[in-house]
Amino acid sequence: MVIRGVLLGRVHALFAGAAALLFSACASQPAPTYDLVIANGRVIDPASGLDGVRHIGIRGGKIEAVSTAPLAGVRVIDAFRYIVAPGFIDLHEHGQQEEAYRMMVRDGVTSAFELEVGTGDVARWYQARNGGQIVNYGVAIGHIPARMKVLGDPGQGLLPAGIGGSGSANETQLVAMEAILRQGLAQGAVAMGFGSAYTPGAPMSEIERMFRVAAAGGVSAHIHMRGGLTGLQETIAAAKSAGASLHIVHVNSSADTELEEFLAAIKAARDAGQDVTTEAYPYGAGMTEIQSALFDDWKTWPDARFALHQLVSTGERLTRATFGKARAAGGTVIIHGRSEAQTRAAIVSPLAMIASDGFIENGRGHPRTSGTFARVLGKYVRDEGAVTMMDALRRMTIEPARRLERRVPAMTAKGRVSVGADADLTLFDPATVMDRATYEDASLASAGIPYVIIGGQAVVDGGQVTAARPGRAIRAPIR
Ligand SMILES: [Zn+2]
Repeated sequence: MVIRGVLLGRVHALFAGAAALLFSACASQPAPTYDLVIANGRVIDPASGLDGVRHIGIRGGKIEAVSTAPLAGVRVIDAFRYIVAPGFIDLHEHGQQEEAYRMMVRDGVTSAFELEVGTGDVARWYQARNGGQIVNYGVAIGHIPARMKVLGDPGQGLLPAGIGGSGSANETQLVAMEAILRQGLAQGAVAMGFGSAYTPGAPMSEIERMFRVAAAGGVSAHIHMRGGLTGLQETIAAAKSAGASLHIVHVNSSADTELEEFLAAIKAARDAGQDVTTEAYPYGAGMTEIQSALFDDWKTWPDARFALHQLVSTGERLTRATFGKARAAGGTVIIHGRSEAQTRAAIVSPLAMIASDGFIENGRGHPRTSGTFARVLGKYVRDEGAVTMMDALRRMTIEPARRLERRVPAMTAKGRVSVGADADLTLFDPATVMDRATYEDASLASAGIPYVIIGGQAVVDGGQVTAARPGRAIRAPIR
């Protein structure tokens, strides 16, 4: 009995020792805890000001750890030499389909919004994208499509090609427009879109009336405005009177040669306490539909002006004769002419968020679809030293998130590298990041962005787009 007891005691002690050994092995080499770890990267998070080497632990699509000590994961991506930033948020992207998403994600974009033109049917817009896209997506209810519908515009594209732009609306029609806008808000539109440049038939009183619908719904009004500096002052005054938050899209092209005056007017409104923001894209040419109201006066142009216009479908520069033919046929046109100094002045402004205004179809479009964010990081941050990395990333991530978060609570978890945030991350090489798309070939993807993570899944992996479709609807609460 005694011998047996002693033996049993020794066996027990042996087991206890083995267990201790096992435990200490675990402590020095812990079992994988995270679905994905981004290790050794230079994490830049403009929301908190963090700029340092960290390890990021991701589980269930969320960031669960931002650590100075190494972490273990089922998969570990070594981000040594890469900057790890919040995924880029593009507030102005017309290309809301697979082809455009493939280009944008290679440029580091993880959430893409169509907030300028928007849609006339928010429920249907989201329904058409259900089931997972490459990137997260969202839309505005739009004054332009509402006006086209109510006035019976013949246009088949995004923009009015006739009465929806040039016609004036009577009281019954204004009420019908308001009803469409209110319905869009009830269906979860993240903002309200306007294009007074495309609707010359809409007086400022109509724009202000629709701004009041935006104000009542608590959404920002995103506008492609008309009329240069006077137009800007009228637009800011209308938003103030209506109590609406205002976002001036592509200040670089809307201001043209009056950029400094535009930025000063926006700053003055902000300093006076008004909620006014803006955005810019880093290219000297614009693009729009050739049948739009922007070209209604084309017959009065001098001959030289036509050559500034490049037809997207063929890449050819136009003449008076070919412009007339192209306008009759429809399609998109690139408009050259702004100086590099104008573009740079917009991009370096701390007021301007970075937004692409992109669109691409069948490989043809404006290079801003594919290269906007890499071009800012490569050309203006690295090569020219015109913008700091922190400031450029701030205007690509946390600023656009904040623009929407009052209306869209989901945005409080985006644009940040912090515990609890959505795991939407862009990893890029600051030494090589650069746009490659051109006016002749907009389908060339940006370089130097090897990994893009959305909801914890790699959608760009080793520089290639994967089969993952973690992109989800970003939508305001439906009432
Ligand atoms: Zn646009």
